[in-house]
Amino acid sequence: MDTLHSLAQAAYVVAGVLFIVSLAGLSRQETAKTGNRAGKVGMTLALAATVMLALLDSERSAASTAILIALALAVGAVIGIWRARSIEMTQMPEMIAMLHSFVGMAAVLVGFNSYLTEGNGSGAAHLVEVFLGVFIGAITLTGSIVAYLKLAAKIKSAPLTLPARNLLNLVAVAVCLGLMAWFIASPSIVPLALMTAIALAVGWHLVAAIGGGDMPVVVSMLNSYSGWAAAAAGFMLSNTLLIITGSLVGASGALLSYIMCRAMNRQFISVILGGFGAEEGTVVVAGDGEELEHRETTAVEVAELLKAADSVIITPGYGMAVAKAQYPVAELTSRLRAMGIKVHFGVHPVAGRLPGHMNVLLAEAKVPYDIVLELDEINPDFPTTDVVLVIGANDTVNPAAEDDPGSPIAGMPVLEVWKAHDVIVFKRSMAVGYAGVQNPLFYRDNTAMLFGDAKARVEDIIQAL
Ligand code: NDP
Repeated sequence: MDTLHSLAQAAYVVAGVLFIVSLAGLSRQETAKTGNRAGKVGMTLALAATVMLALLDSERSAASTAILIALALAVGAVIGIWRARSIEMTQMPEMIAMLHSFVGMAAVLVGFNSYLTEGNGSGAAHLVEVFLGVFIGAITLTGSIVAYLKLAAKIKSAPLTLPARNLLNLVAVAVCLGLMAWFIASPSIVPLALMTAIALAVGWHLVAAIGGGDMPVVVSMLNSYSGWAAAAAGFMLSNTLLIITGSLVGASGALLSYIMCRAMNRQFISVILGGFGAEEGTVVVAGDGEELEHRETTAVEVAELLKAADSVIITPGYGMAVAKAQYPVAELTSRLRAMGIKVHFGVHPVAGRLPGHMNVLLAEAKVPYDIVLELDEINPDFPTTDVVLVIGANDTVNPAAEDDPGSPIAGMPVLEVWKAHDVIVFKRSMAVGYAGVQNPLFYRDNTAMLFGDAKARVEDIIQAL
């Protein structure tokens, strides 16, 4: 028996190391596949060890425990495989948000279970673990559900700005602190349940108050919360692997949120406080109040422009993902390169709907890594570039971020595409992007709009070439 317990603990340590190797691998495109594999092996080991421990420690017969675990695994695997196969790449962020809500729910259930089974005599430290685990879990649960609903466009993405909303949150947290003191002084289910109700409401309100453009940071922030919730559950269950894994997720989610805030020039604290992205669909007007006009072009004209160019930069955005245009874009790239034209990609850190979204699509379409550059690397090249193809990007190429201090996205670093000689914008209409902000780029003298589905238009250009 003890040998088996030690073996399971050893498997946990190996799994923990594999998770660290996995994270390190995932940080670079070239090593991402290896990292992913390390993660899968680690997770298989962890699952096997957990099942073994459950069988060894169960109070009921090993056979009935095995049946219960097998049933839970089967249901989870069927739903997991079905969702993973049916989900579109563009729906990934909402799926991730939904998965975070499960982690939150698990932490709440583990907390209640741990309190009810281990009772009141389990010591102050355990009571604090239970209380904090349920608190973080409940916030993660409802926060993630709201993030899911907003990303899936099932509710409006504009922020809910209740009067004195920050004060409301502060009061709620203060009340929860009071309830924690009550819970520790005289343990009972009442303060725990009251806090759960308040934390569920806080989670809902926190994310409801955050609007459009900040949603990527929120998803990564909830990722971090779900990690801390898992770590808290690990403390409650005395499960070292859950503590290690939860901390890895918690810390990497927090780091990613920080990196994304920097990419959007937003203060982390002001993202949490919400209220951003309220402005929707205003008409762009010139200084004298006159409505501005845009210029349209055709695929044939764009093909001519490309033929005459020496250098081209492609800046993809969410629209490329929607149109699944990455394959024709990759083909166009190799055609242009075969014609001796220098082609680079400029990828904004929050282009698309999840971090790394564009990199994944371009890698899928086998665009060489070395021509895909990041914002800082590509921005100095625009002034010396002949043609920029903006394929389904909008907020990430909006000059208002630099020129208009009053814009909701003021200060966000953007791809300075307008500095190139010619800019072609691929989109279906003059509609705004995710942040709901108008884009003056479309009305610049050197910009022409190529309307239609991005995939069809890129194919038209290839045809014309
Ligand atoms: P945007 O969301 O700003 O704009 C996408 C554009 O694509 C739209 O203007 C739309 O215009 C166009 N489009 C949609 N479908 C098609 C199609 N089939 N063919 C051609 N064009 C199409 O994109 P960006 O990538 O520039 O910016 C990302 C935004 O999303 C930022 O505001 C970011 O903060 C936010 N965000 C980012 C996340 C991340 O982690 N990357 C996560 C969540 C949000 P039209 O309708 O006229 O075609």
